[in-house]
Amino acid sequence: MKPYNFYAGPSILHPDVIKEALSQIEAKNGLSLLELSHRGKVVQQLFKNTQSKLRELMQLDDKFEILFLHGGASLQNCMIPYNICTQESANYIDTGIWSKKSYKESEILRPTDVLGSSAEQNYDHIPKNINWDGKGYLHITTNNTISGTQFHNFDFVEKGVVVADMSSDLLSQSMNFNSFGVIYAGLQKNLGTAGGTLVVIDKNLLEDLPQVPNMLNYKKHVEANSMLNTPPVFAVMMCNIVLNWIEKQGGLHVIEKQNQLKAKMLYDTIDSHKLFEGFVQLEDRSLMNVCFKLEDDSLKERFETSLENNNIVGLNGHRSKGGYRASLYNQLPLSHVEHLVKVMNNFKA
Ligand SMILES: *Cc1c(COP(=O)(O)O)cnc(C)c1O
Repeated sequence: MKPYNFYAGPSILHPDVIKEALSQIEAKNGLSLLELSHRGKVVQQLFKNTQSKLRELMQLDDKFEILFLHGGASLQNCMIPYNICTQESANYIDTGIWSKKSYKESEILRPTDVLGSSAEQNYDHIPKNINWDGKGYLHITTNNTISGTQFHNFDFVEKGVVVADMSSDLLSQSMNFNSFGVIYAGLQKNLGTAGGTLVVIDKNLLEDLPQVPNMLNYKKHVEANSMLNTPPVFAVMMCNIVLNWIEKQGGLHVIEKQNQLKAKMLYDTIDSHKLFEGFVQLEDRSLMNVCFKLEDDSLKERFETSLENNNIVGLNGHRSKGGYRASLYNQLPLSHVEHLVKVMNNFKA
């Protein structure tokens, strides 16, 4: 039987998504989508259709451009400081390893301020009361995949241009995406497979920047409709299939309810079970990556054996943190959480 998959990324794919992908790749009566030129109608239509599905699911204003780029979320760490509000300082909130990578990259390219950080508390919370004058841009990581925290309050987005790395929680809930300046995400968590990055960018932020190399220049990518070079067709095809799957579930409101239910079930177990303990402050807990540990480290081997015996994979915490992390992305069914919770509840000292 296929294992219960709690990996943090690449994430679990629903069986219906895999089935549809196989049939699209195979394309019994003609060339496969993956063999076709990106200048032809079929691939152009795939990109258009995927963009319009995103527009609809995210309820995006016309002011946004939607790009599919290479290089993962990590390449955005340099594209953002290269391109956005270039005359002002770049501002960051440090909520974990991913956001640290983001501001470190910015520091190479321009003056950069870190306005808040939870590093000294081992990233167990989201810094509050950020003092930002609204100048330049403010970069946040909405969900911290490694430390298991998530922003649940976005009041500050009204102050200025907010740039958000949503790699691990985009489309996991409904929210007002229109108040952001740039949203980006690697596609391999909630949006499909690795190999592509989604960038949603407010047109008003596009500047003429002749000194920025083409492949790092948002304006050039927008003008070429994400096809400055051969685009990541496979990753966009997968994203399209996943968006269809989300629509079929009933859209973001339904997905959100499902995600809340899954997370609550697991957090309730952690909180009520004597042997387990959560890592992060309650109000900042992530609905996507649930991080916890054993109260007593000497039980480690026994717990991990019971995970293995019950066909559960991907539960180890990030190597920087230890403990356990259950990633509950959109496509992870409730039955997987029910199974994990049962195994945890049966675990005795
Ligand atoms: C996974 C992840 C990344 C890295 O994505 P790549 O596409 O591998 O570059 C960046 N930020 C966050 C929040 C992530 O979860």
